[in-house]
Amino acid sequence: MAQTHTARLMDGTRLAARIIETSSAAAEDIRRRTGTAPCLATVLVGEDPASVTYVQMKRARCAKAGIQSRHVALPASVGTADLVHAITELSQDPGVHGILLQHPVGPHIDERAAFEAIAPDKDVDGVTMRSFAATAFGLPGFVSCTPAGIMRLLDEYGVELAGKHAVVVGRSAILGKPAGMLLLGRNATVTYCHSRTADLPSIVRQADVLLAAVGRPRFIGGRDIKPGAVVIDAGYNPGNVGDVDFETAKDRASLITPVPGGVGPMTIAVLLAQTVQAAAHQLNVT
Ligand code: NAP
Repeated sequence: MAQTHTARLMDGTRLAARIIETSSAAAEDIRRRTGTAPCLATVLVGEDPASVTYVQMKRARCAKAGIQSRHVALPASVGTADLVHAITELSQDPGVHGILLQHPVGPHIDERAAFEAIAPDKDVDGVTMRSFAATAFGLPGFVSCTPAGIMRLLDEYGVELAGKHAVVVGRSAILGKPAGMLLLGRNATVTYCHSRTADLPSIVRQADVLLAAVGRPRFIGGRDIKPGAVVIDAGYNPGNVGDVDFETAKDRASLITPVPGGVGPMTIAVLLAQTVQAAAHQLNVT
């Protein structure tokens, strides 16, 4: 009789709930001891429906966890200088402990300048150059939320990274690039792939740990998954579809993240955890 194999699911929803529960207790402790609840400022440029939904979701999760949020909505027509000004004000406001600029912000804006207006100790989304450098150097600091969430999932499921070949498909500043740095920091041998990579499938087939962070539905098929590989699918495409073809990949992988319910919930959980951490630091709660 033919053997059938199905990968074990990496349950991001369950782990995220646990992280949020811990953050919520820490937020309450901060509020009790200082009289001030942690506060996350969200900045939204324009009314892109997906961005509006993401911000609403993040604020709702904050409220449930006892984290206040302050929302700054700016018109799509806002220029770089006014956006930088609004973020600088939040950076200087002692009542705000963390700042999230929902991105993308629109092609007419210098997004890097806007990110860099976030004070380093309020960069709970881990988007500034300083946070990236700390991640790359393995120093303390805020980590981009999705890569940090991925590492927590890998740890939760006891994935050994040292000496493993980790292939990261995608090199964005907030996802692929920092994720590769974190994997490198854990002694994986890391290969980055991107849109100019030649013969991508031959590299993907070597991955002991595969991270798909591309933004193309079912871009990586099961036949290119090395048997027994750990597959992390960060992709989130219309119709709740990941970057990996789950149905075929699950028959080859040893562990795999579902979409939805894998990486997605972890991103928000890390955002809340880092907001509480920022508040504790700024309010001198140890
Ligand atoms: P991005 O900025 O658009 O970057 C996509 C990356 O994929 C780029 O590095 C690009 O290469 C690479 N790529 C595009 N086409 C490719 C191809 N044909 N072959 C190989 N590489 C290719 O996207 P992102 O922000 O990193 O997001 C990636 C995915 O993750 C999206 O589905 C997004 O929705 C999802 N995401 C999920 C979460 C979450 O919380 N779950 C958070 C963030 C993002 P080049 O650099 O050469 O252009």
